[in-house]
Amino acid sequence: MPKKKNKRKSTRSQAPKGKAVILYHDMAVYENFERCAPRIFEVISKAQEMRPNSPRILYFRVQGHRNSANGYDHDAWEMIRHFLPDVALPYLTELHTPLYSVKDNRRQKNDIPDEMRVGYPKGEEKSFWYDIESLPLRVRETEASNRKTYPTKRAIMEYLDIGEECLICWGSPVERAHVVPASLGGSMDVRNFALLCADHHKQAPDIADAEAFWAWVDYAELRDSGSKWQRAPEEVKLWVKEHGGRTEPIDHSEMEFLAAVQFELRHLYGWSDREFSAMSWDLMNEYHRVLDSATGRHFAVEKKVSTHAWAYHVARLRLASRSK
Ligand SMILES: [Zn+2]
Repeated sequence: MPKKKNKRKSTRSQAPKGKAVILYHDMAVYENFERCAPRIFEVISKAQEMRPNSPRILYFRVQGHRNSANGYDHDAWEMIRHFLPDVALPYLTELHTPLYSVKDNRRQKNDIPDEMRVGYPKGEEKSFWYDIESLPLRVRETEASNRKTYPTKRAIMEYLDIGEECLICWGSPVERAHVVPASLGGSMDVRNFALLCADHHKQAPDIADAEAFWAWVDYAELRDSGSKWQRAPEEVKLWVKEHGGRTEPIDHSEMEFLAAVQFELRHLYGWSDREFSAMSWDLMNEYHRVLDSATGRHFAVEKKVSTHAWAYHVARLRLASRSK
């Protein structure tokens, strides 16, 4: 057995000094546990890097993420009941969540690990993923209401605690976007809706997997976050730029369809050159050209970059799992 080294003892459990650093995280409706936890970890690491050993205070809020009893859903519960108190709190002086607050943890640790990885219980990994073989319907709301009509915009705004604005770009007017489309079995439950501007509604994927829809919104929010600042005063834009942010959206409208699909496969689904080189993109390009000029709809699927990127990704996973 290798001996445990305690080499950085000097920074451990040292009483925090100086002004507190206030950290704030809103677990967005489109963040699941797997995306939220590493972000909290990153924020804590950044704070230690910029203001070493200062007391850290984290305010954690949750948007949406409700179950049918109006409690928190699985992802938010796991954040509030497990990740925050067990993993994050040792590195904080104060923690405030919607369910409890911990004040004055004098044993704030400052030896923050270099990396955090989210893992799954051994042997149960598969149950956490979308079943690519049977392509089932996967919704967030486990017990859907029996509504036959759309919830009002106000009901969605209240559920998400937002104004009448697009979740991705904060633009308006907004439309009620199904997470899982009704034609694929999506319900009229408020939890199956997002508010999106017409442009983002047009881009959002029409697929049977709610988590893939939310992952896309999360990705699009990062991709297009520049547009949020478009109407901001110049001094605010300057501040955002100085802090490494973007204040103009990236224009993807001129991108060719398949180039846009490839962009999404790379940036949303994490494809590397290896994955791309395993496909015949020439044929695919030709295929889409034929499809464009000779057909309107392909198997009744509206031609959306996001839907096609998801389908390519899932198709690749299916092929890979068969060749094992
Ligand atoms: Zn938008």
